[in-house]
Amino acid sequence: MRDEKRRRQFDSSWTPPSAFCLPPSAFFLVLAIWLGAVAVWNRSTRGESGGWHDTRTFGPLVCRADFSLESIDPVLRQLAQLQIDLNDRLGVRPAAEPIELYLFRQEWTYRNTLSRHFPNVPYRRALYVKTGGRGMVFAYWSREFEIDLRHECTHALLHAALPVVPLWLDEGLAEYFEIAPDERASGSPYLSGVRWMARFGITPRLEKLEKKIDVGQMGGSEYRDSWAWVHFMLHGPQAAREELTGYLGDIQNHCPPGLLSQRLQQRLPDCDRQFGSHFKSWTR
Ligand SMILES: [Zn+2]
Repeated sequence: MRDEKRRRQFDSSWTPPSAFCLPPSAFFLVLAIWLGAVAVWNRSTRGESGGWHDTRTFGPLVCRADFSLESIDPVLRQLAQLQIDLNDRLGVRPAAEPIELYLFRQEWTYRNTLSRHFPNVPYRRALYVKTGGRGMVFAYWSREFEIDLRHECTHALLHAALPVVPLWLDEGLAEYFEIAPDERASGSPYLSGVRWMARFGITPRLEKLEKKIDVGQMGGSEYRDSWAWVHFMLHGPQAAREELTGYLGDIQNHCPPGLLSQRLQQRLPDCDRQFGSHFKSWTR
C-alpha cells in the first residue's frame, strides 16, 4: 500500500505566495520539467471533444473517456458529490473552475497516453495535474478505479478552491475522502493501526508532518498519520474541527494561517491526550 500511495501521487506544481507564513517546505515543489509536458497536453486537448468516445459533465467534473460513461454514471454522480462534501465537512467554498477528467478503459492506453504527453513523469495508477488554472485528473479502469478517482479529485477540488494546500493535509484529506461516503468514518484500512498505536499511547507528531517538503518524503506511515489527524479533526472534539475549518478558511481568504499544529495546541492544550482518547474510544 505504501508504494502504491507513493506511486500514484505527484499532483500539482505550485509556488506559495510570499504573504503566507506557512513554511515553503510544507508545499509542493515547483516541477518545471512538468510544465513543458503539460503544455504539450494543453495544446493537444484544448477545445477538443472529438477523439473521445464519450464526454459528459457532472457538477464541476468534465469527463472525457475512451469508453461509454453510461456504465459508470453512478460513480461519476457520486464523485461530483465530493465538492459538496468538501464544502459541508471542511467549509471550503467551491471554485468556479471545472475539473477535467480523462478516463481510459485499458491500462496500456492510459500508460501510452501519459508517456506520450508526460514523458518525464514517473508512472502511477492515477494522476492529478494542475497548470495554468486547469486541474486535470487521469485514471484507467482498475480495481481501485473509484478510490483513485475520489483521491485525485479531492486533490483537484482542493487546489481549485484554495491558493495553497500543505502537503500533509492535502494527502490526509485525499486519504480520508477516497473512501466511499458511507464508510469514511470507520472504513479506512488505517483505522485499526492507528487505534492500536493509541492503545500504546503513541501520537504521531503533526509538527513532523508539517515539515515534509515533497511526496518523496511521504511513505506509508506519513499517509496513515496524515489521515489520522484529519480523522481526529473531523470526528473528534468540536474545537479541533473548528480549527481545521478556520485554518482552511484563512487559506481560502488569503489570510496567513500559521501552522495548524500550533493552532491546535493553543485551542486544545491536551491535544495529544484527546487524540489518543478519540481513537481508543472510536467504535463506529
Ligand atoms: Zn494524493
